[in-house]
Amino acid sequence: MDALDFPFLGNALWVDFLNTEPTLPGGGTGDLIDRPEAFERWARATGEVGPHDPFEPDRQEMQEALKFRAVLREGAESLLAGATPSRSIVSAVNEKLAGSPVVSTLIEKGAGWDLTSRIVAGTATALLGRLATDFAHTLVSGRPDRLRRCEHPGCVMLFIDTSKNGKRRWCSMETCGNREKAAGHRARVKRLGAKI
Ligand SMILES: [Zn+2]
Repeated sequence: MDALDFPFLGNALWVDFLNTEPTLPGGGTGDLIDRPEAFERWARATGEVGPHDPFEPDRQEMQEALKFRAVLREGAESLLAGATPSRSIVSAVNEKLAGSPVVSTLIEKGAGWDLTSRIVAGTATALLGRLATDFAHTLVSGRPDRLRRCEHPGCVMLFIDTSKNGKRRWCSMETCGNREKAAGHRARVKRLGAKI
C-alpha cells in the first residue's frame, strides 16, 4: 500500500492512529498496520518519523503498538459516550508518556508564541509516546466532546471536529458526505416518482 492511501483526516495524530482500522469500501473494517513494514510506512507517512530515522519496528514493537491502539480505542469510546476515560487507560497513557522524551521548541507565531514538541528519536517507543501526548492534549484542551464518529451508517472513521460551529458530520466530504448527498437525491427522485 502506498503511503498516500493512509487516511489522515482525524485532525489529531492519535485519531489518525485509530483510523488505521478504517471502513473498507465493501463494508467491515480492515487493519492497515497489521505488519511491521506497514506500521513503518504509516509512521513515516505521519511525518513524525523522519526519512533518515532508523525506524524499523520488530514484531514485538508492533504488537505493543497494536495493544496501545486498543487502549486509545477504549479511550475514544469513553469520550464518544461522554464519559471519563478509565484509570487503566490513563495509566497506560502515562506509561507511554514516561517512556518517551520529547524536545519542545519555543517559536514565534504571529503576534504570539507557540510551543511545539517532537519526538527525540524515530523509534517505535518514541512514536507511542507521541501518540500518548496527543491523546492527552485532546483531554486537556477542554474539548474532548469534539471527538466524533462519521455519521454515515457503517462508517467507523473518527475525527476531531475543528469546525467553528461544531457541526462536521462526515469523515470526508469526498466519500461519506457525497454518498449521503447521492442517497438524499435518490430518495427525492423516488418520492417524485411515487407522485407521478
Ligand atoms: Zn465516513
